[in-house]
Amino acid sequence: MTHQILIVECKQEVSTFNPARSHYEDFIIHRGDELIAHHRTMRNEVGGALSVFDQHRGEVELVPVISARAITSGGTLAAPDWARLRDDILDALRSALAARGSDAATLSAYFALHGAMASEDEDDPEGDLLEQARAILGPHASIVASFDLHGILTDRILRHADAICCFHTYPHVDFFETGQRAARLLLRVLRGARPVTARVFIPALVRGDELITATGAIRHAVDAARELEAGGALSAGLFWGNPFTDVPSLATYSFVVTDDDPALAEREALRIADLFWREHEKMRVPLTPLDEAVRIAHEQLPCGGTTVLVDAADATSSGASGDSNAILRRLIETNYTGRALIPIVDPMAAQAAFKAGVGSLVTVRVGGALDPGRFAPIEVVGRVRMLSDGSFRSESFDEMWHAGPTAVLLVGDITLIVTSHAVSLYDRSLFYAHGQDPRRFDLVVVKSPHCQPHMFKDWAARYVDVDAPGSTSANLRSLGHTRCPRPIWPLDEEVTWERRATIFRRPRSA
Ligand SMILES: [Zn+2]
Repeated sequence: MTHQILIVECKQEVSTFNPARSHYEDFIIHRGDELIAHHRTMRNEVGGALSVFDQHRGEVELVPVISARAITSGGTLAAPDWARLRDDILDALRSALAARGSDAATLSAYFALHGAMASEDEDDPEGDLLEQARAILGPHASIVASFDLHGILTDRILRHADAICCFHTYPHVDFFETGQRAARLLLRVLRGARPVTARVFIPALVRGDELITATGAIRHAVDAARELEAGGALSAGLFWGNPFTDVPSLATYSFVVTDDDPALAEREALRIADLFWREHEKMRVPLTPLDEAVRIAHEQLPCGGTTVLVDAADATSSGASGDSNAILRRLIETNYTGRALIPIVDPMAAQAAFKAGVGSLVTVRVGGALDPGRFAPIEVVGRVRMLSDGSFRSESFDEMWHAGPTAVLLVGDITLIVTSHAVSLYDRSLFYAHGQDPRRFDLVVVKSPHCQPHMFKDWAARYVDVDAPGSTSANLRSLGHTRCPRPIWPLDEEVTWERRATIFRRPRSA
């Protein structure tokens, strides 16, 4: 029997503390055969899944439906934009079904999701999609979904998917492998496995170096999940969530999926949770106050090597606005004389630079373009060094990233890379694309909590996690969560964990 596998992707990560809204236009959409052609070249989840399904032609027939990937993380998705995106996805699903005239008994779907989306009117877009897809595909279709470990593992997701899997690495390097695992999981379900999932709720929001899965304290829990999978469990993992997506289910969750063995799933999900809970108090970031961080940068001058100021409070890949000028302001106020390299999102400033042209002097206001409540603009005079369309290949994944019209402005000895919208800044792509080698600067602002060590940390003279304002601050208490479950560590004192698993299993057809 040939199984038809529908392929759907919908991915974005948001910070609900970013006041700027995300929109439909922030997504790159591929449909039908174009979806397959695009993803065959990518080292992402769909690419990984395709690599497995391709080895089982005859057993499976692929039905590419739709892929919607946000260009980067951002603020909450505006309600009409989510409605449009959701309709696109569900309409595509219905059309794919209508075109195939599919027999429900052979129907299945792979969903590549993130898990930390949110819209103005939907706290759990991924759960909504799976619920609607289930209604369209029917109770007997097999649905498997993959997630980022920064996702939020809601009841609704587990009620409507047969089984899930998630990344095991942070910083993430297993996109492709996670897609492969999802595909193998779906094949096992299609061949008769009867998935049952145990999920454990853990009241903790975590950040910091201890989350690096190769070296941090989190590895004990993640390694246990990996070993379970290697030992034959259908799937296992730990979702520690994006602490900036303040929705009612935000928390950390462990999960284990077994083949028809709820007791084993429960025992092992609790064991992974134990391994996490034992270590969780280490999982926060020691931050250096902004003034002290800038003082350290001054101290390194004139030739003490590069100071990297990590401004993870404005991490675009976690959903921040990218328009923080907090460090820039402090450098200007303290008459910093070194060569500094700073990325900033400011469409108006970029536009002014384009109007003036390369070589011109421009007076522009930078900062606070998107998050004016946190950042007041600063007026600077800069020379336009370079103008670009802001599209470039990422260093990490060799995929195209789009920052929109981008200007390189030289303000004294400070080089500002002014983009029109946010792009991920967890590597050096934006810098390299605009002719800037971070090693040639005295100071670099890195707006990402973690980069691969060789990119900055291995060679920087000083590497400082700065406590600056921002919608993705690791100073979680500064953000003002109002919707996540309480009490939760570290927002509240003396948080206790009730050691309990919830079992999910879908009723199967006879
Ligand atoms: Zn992630």
